[in-house]
Amino acid sequence: MTERRAKIVRYETKVCTRCNGSGSHSFNLRDGTRCWKCWGNGTQLSANGKRALKRISAWKAEHLTRTGETLQTGDLIRPHSSRAWRKVCEVRESDGRVFAVVHEKEFQNGEWAVGIGDGIQIKAQGESFQALAKFAARYKGAIIEYHDDASEG
Ligand SMILES: [Zn+2]
Repeated sequence: MTERRAKIVRYETKVCTRCNGSGSHSFNLRDGTRCWKCWGNGTQLSANGKRALKRISAWKAEHLTRTGETLQTGDLIRPHSSRAWRKVCEVRESDGRVFAVVHEKEFQNGEWAVGIGDGIQIKAQGESFQALAKFAARYKGAIIEYHDDASEG
C-alpha cells in the first residue's frame, strides 16, 4: 500500500462577516462595490484557517527558503513578488550575486538577481510539497485534498 499523495492544501474559510457572503458592499471610490474584506469572493479565513496559515507559512519559511548560493535550476520563484511562479532555467554567479534566469522578458532580460546569503522562498514541489502536506495535516484549519488511487501520484 502506497502513501496517499497530497494534491492541494487549502485553508478553512467561513462566510465573510462584512458582506455576508455576497462579495459586494456599499460603494467606495477605491474598491467600487467589491467587499474589501474578502476581495469579492464572499469568504474569509476561519480562526482555524488563520492558525493553520500562520504555522504553515512558518514551515515554508524554514524549509523552502533558498539563499543565493543554494538556488537551483528547476526551483520555482516569484520574481518581484509577482503572483505567478517562474521556473529557474539557469543560475549564474557574479559580483556576490546569483542571477537566476527565469525567461521573463518583461524585466532585466529575464534575469533575477539574488544576493549571496539573501533568502528567497521557493514553491513546494514534489517531495517538498508532500512534506508540507504532512505537516499541514496536523492542523484542523488546513484542508488537504489527495490524489485518488486511479490518478497519478
Ligand atoms: Zn466580503
